[in-house]
Amino acid sequence: ATPTAVVAGIGNAAKYGMIVKSGEALQRFGTIDTVALDKTGTLTYGELSITEIKSLDPKWAKADILKLAAIAEARSEHPIGQAICAAADTKEQASEYTVTPGKGIEAMYNGRHLLVGKGSFLKEHAVDLDESLKNEFQARGATVVFLAVDEQAAGLIALSDTVRQSAAPMIQKLHRMKVETVLLTGDNPAAAQTIADQVNVSAVHSELLPEDKQKIIHQYQEQDHKVCMIGDGINDAVALRTADAAIAMGGIGSDVAIESSDVVLVQDDISRIPYLIDLSRKVLQKIR
Ligand code: ADP
Ligand code: MG
Repeated sequence: ATPTAVVAGIGNAAKYGMIVKSGEALQRFGTIDTVALDKTGTLTYGELSITEIKSLDPKWAKADILKLAAIAEARSEHPIGQAICAAADTKEQASEYTVTPGKGIEAMYNGRHLLVGKGSFLKEHAVDLDESLKNEFQARGATVVFLAVDEQAAGLIALSDTVRQSAAPMIQKLHRMKVETVLLTGDNPAAAQTIADQVNVSAVHSELLPEDKQKIIHQYQEQDHKVCMIGDGINDAVALRTADAAIAMGGIGSDVAIESSDVVLVQDDISRIPYLIDLSRKVLQKIR
C-alpha cells in the first residue's frame, strides 16, 4: 500500500497547482541536486513579440515576409510560430507542413516551398544565406528566424521574449536549497545569456538540438547528479524522459512534453518548483 505521507504529499502538491502522476514520481524529486530549465516558454512567458523584420530580397516587402512566415507557421505549437501568426493579418494555411523540433518549419503554399527557422536549418535545405545578418539583432538578445521562398533567402524576423516575474526568485530559492540550475536552449548564445543574466542560473548551454539537451542531462547524471528537467516544448521531450524527474508546463506546454513528465504545472507557475522538491524531501524523511 502507498504510505500515507505520499498520498498526503500528492494532495498538497495538487493544492498548489501541481499534478503529480504517481507516488513513486513524487519521491524522485526529493533526491534532485540539479534543475535543468528550458528557456522559451519555461523561464520566459513564451509570448514573443516581433521587434524587427528585414527584407533580404527586393521581391519581398516586410508585410509579405510576415504573411508567408505566418502561413507556414499556421499550425505551429511553437511560441515563435504563434507570435508570427498573431502579428500577421492572414488566416491562410500552408498545405503541406513539416516541423523539425529545435530547427524550424517547412511548408508548401501556392506551389511555393517555404522554410522558416534558424539559419543553419535553411542552409541544410541548400539556401544560400549570409547568416551573419542575424548578428546585430542577436547582440540585442533577440531570437532570429529566417524565411526562404523556393530556396531563396527572403527575410529575417527578430523576436524578443520576457522573463517570467517569478523566475529569478525561484532560482535563488533553489540555490539556497543547494540545488544547482542550468539553462538549456535551442536559441542563440546571446539570447540565452540575456535571459541567464536576468535569472542568475549556475550554467548556460545554447544552440542545442533536442538530443543535445538530452546529452547534457546524461553528462550530469554520469557525474552522479540527480537531475530534474523542466520544459514546455516538443523539443524538450527527450530531455524530460532522460531526466531523473521531469516537470512540464501545463498551460503553454505541448502534449508531448506533458506526456513525458512526472509533474504538470497546471498554471505554468514555476515558483512552485522549490516547494515541490522540499515537499518530496519531507515525504522521503517520513517514509525512511
Ligand atoms: P528553446 O530551447 O528556446 O525552447 P527551440 O529548441 O524550440 O528553442 O528552438 C531553437 C531555435 O530553432 C529557435 O530559436 C528558432 O531559431 C528555431 N525554431 C524552432 N522551431 C521553430 C519554428 N516553429 N519556427 C521557426 N523557427 C523555429
Ligand atoms: Mg521551450
